[in-house]
Amino acid sequence: MECPRCKASAVILELKDVEIDYCPKCGGIWLDAGELERLLGDNARKIYSTFQKERFSKEKKLRCPACHRKMNKVVLISTRIDICPKNHGIWFDKGELQKVITAGDINSDVLKFLKDMFNNEIKE
Ligand SMILES: [Zn+2]
Ligand SMILES: [Zn+2]
Repeated sequence: MECPRCKASAVILELKDVEIDYCPKCGGIWLDAGELERLLGDNARKIYSTFQKERFSKEKKLRCPACHRKMNKVVLISTRIDICPKNHGIWFDKGELQKVITAGDINSDVLKFLKDMFNNEIKE
């Protein structure tokens, strides 16, 4: 897969039996539709309940790596992410997935895994 942010080739990582696409160049993560649910279980619903579409973002629109349509900017909890209008998946820039999980106060081993994977501290 080509990274929607920097166009580098993404690599596939396995996280709790879910294959995720990770860009080693910019540190972003692509989750296919349904993968967030598989990673977080019922907690994914808690996150989705905060979903807000952002209409007037000035940020550059990224294209979905699956269908190449321009993705929508949406806010989950307090983090702005990119989501395919055809629901192919969600793009998280570096650190954003950790931020969403942290802000959602979700008790999940995914967070530990992400921390280990990126070997960085979550700055909040
Ligand atoms: Zn990238
Ligand atoms: Zn798409």
